[in-house]
Amino acid sequence: MALPDLSARVLSLASLGLVVLDVGQRVVLWNQWMASRSGLSAGRVQGLALLDVFPELRGQRLEQALQTALHSKLPTLLPQTANRTPFPLFAPGTWGGERVEQGVTVTPFNEGKERYCLIEISDVSNTVGRERQLRGQAEALRAQSYVDGLTGIANRRHFDVALDRELRRAHRNDGELSLLLMDIDSFKAYNDHFGHQQGDACLTLVAEAFAAMLQRPADLAARYGGEEFAAVLPDTGPLQAQRHAEAIRARVAALGITHAPAALRPCVTLSIGVASFDRQRLADVESLLGAADRALYAAKHAGRDCVIVDRAEDGAA
Ligand code: GH3
Ligand code: MG
Ligand code: MG
Repeated sequence: MALPDLSARVLSLASLGLVVLDVGQRVVLWNQWMASRSGLSAGRVQGLALLDVFPELRGQRLEQALQTALHSKLPTLLPQTANRTPFPLFAPGTWGGERVEQGVTVTPFNEGKERYCLIEISDVSNTVGRERQLRGQAEALRAQSYVDGLTGIANRRHFDVALDRELRRAHRNDGELSLLLMDIDSFKAYNDHFGHQQGDACLTLVAEAFAAMLQRPADLAARYGGEEFAAVLPDTGPLQAQRHAEAIRARVAALGITHAPAALRPCVTLSIGVASFDRQRLADVESLLGAADRALYAAKHAGRDCVIVDRAEDGAA
């Protein structure tokens, strides 16, 4: 096969659009891929200005790219964020369907004294579709996730579901249920002194130590918010819950994590509020959480690094 024949054959087989324009932006070359996706044969467009063939390209990013190539001899890779489908091109046999998504480059070149530019158009619909699908899946997984990304213990979403479920169960079985809310003492000072990254590492250490203290399969250790943790303890009354809370407090203090000089204690500590299911007084999620939160607040006021249990008389006050 003679070389020109071979080139023509390769051009017709290429799986991307190839268009060559002269300095007047007239079509010099238009391969088969372009013909089958535009519905316009090479014979019909030969010698026509590209912007007459596709008037919608006027004023678009591509027109600028052509000028840059032909007058400043600079190539352009068209950003896909601006327009994913600059040319009205469709998958062969699907007229009126969706345009194929396009990756477009414009490259100037000289042949003898003449200036030309080559436009290459690739169909990126599949890649874009796959990307979109993967992004969608990642988002769905995140939304479904029950695990806190930093500490690896249950997240707030998991906590909400577990507390609601266990509260219903306590109602049904007339059972016991306790809730612990805990907050790291003077954690702002820790971050300010050691930096946020070390703050994150500290949070993880405390979370791991706290979670390891809960032994029953139905117990749940969760990260409630920034430096706040929570435990849902089914079949656990106030006394037992207080004992658990005290053991957790002591365990975290015993980690001996050096605190910031501005903190009250030399080591990182927790304040803990405890509240228990009570059919008369603390029977729904809101009131149970409210009581645990008030107890935690009282623990902060009592000097931190301590456990306070919600009592009926406190709630009535
Ligand atoms: P208190 O003893 O009253 O609880 O004082 P505190 O300083 O712990 O309380 P405050 O609520 O003022 O500060 C909590 C700090 O926790 C502020 C914030 O920078 C930090 N924090 C919250 N979430 C994160 C996190 O994910 N990583 C890090 N490193 N710090 C966090
Ligand atoms: Mg806090
Ligand atoms: Mg705190």
